[in-house]
Amino acid sequence: MTAVPGNAPLGIFGGTFDPIHFGHLRTAFEVMQALQLRELRFIPAGDPPHRPPPRVDAHRRLGLVRAAVADQPGFVVDDREVRRQGPSYTVLTLTELRAELPGVPLCLVMGMDAFAGLPTWHRWRELLELAHVVVAPRPGWVAPASGEIATLLAERRVPDAARLRDATAGHIRVQPVTQLEISSTELRDLLAAGRDPRYLVPDAVRGLLHETRMYSVPRPTR
Ligand code: ATP
Repeated sequence: MTAVPGNAPLGIFGGTFDPIHFGHLRTAFEVMQALQLRELRFIPAGDPPHRPPPRVDAHRRLGLVRAAVADQPGFVVDDREVRRQGPSYTVLTLTELRAELPGVPLCLVMGMDAFAGLPTWHRWRELLELAHVVVAPRPGWVAPASGEIATLLAERRVPDAARLRDATAGHIRVQPVTQLEISSTELRDLLAAGRDPRYLVPDAVRGLLHETRMYSVPRPTR
């Protein structure tokens, strides 16, 4: 599909966000600026497939994402995966967005760790028919040198962000960003140990974490 020239892309940043941290936010901000996105949508997964169940339920993770992005113009929270029943498959989300925004380049943003694991995603080959993929380098991760992802990268990679306006889907851009070695896993461990997440998360998120102690209380039995 060919896009209208000058058509600013829409960014889509999915994740479990259990909890959201500055590694997510700084990456999203730098990608939004570099790609001159019309907006960047954070789409927290309700029921993320291919990983253990989140530590905190979807509504509370969504509340943290809302608090984290509230003061940044262009950052938008989209709760469709929390409202939708069943596994939060990205291909379903992109199919909906594609129908809602015909002619708009869609950029699915992910870290290098997520990109390396793309072949495990549900109907993964369809993702590039629906959107571009924008990959952010992440400490400790390099692009696979062989296999399906290496081949895909060789075929689809574009050398600069401007090329993402040429079409509505189908390109891969590896976008340099400031690499921050922060993960939700380490944050959960830190919070469970009663330590302070200051400077790893926005103050609004820190306030909610402190108030609710949602990562401090023992995990509910399922
Ligand atoms: P966990 O430690 O629970 O696996 P996470 O920190 O990787 O969580 P997710 O919510 O699973 O966070 O990630 C959502 C998206 O954000 C993924 O595409 C992931 O690659 C990316 N991401 C997470 N942390 C960073 C970071 N520090 N730098 C760049 N990208 C990141």
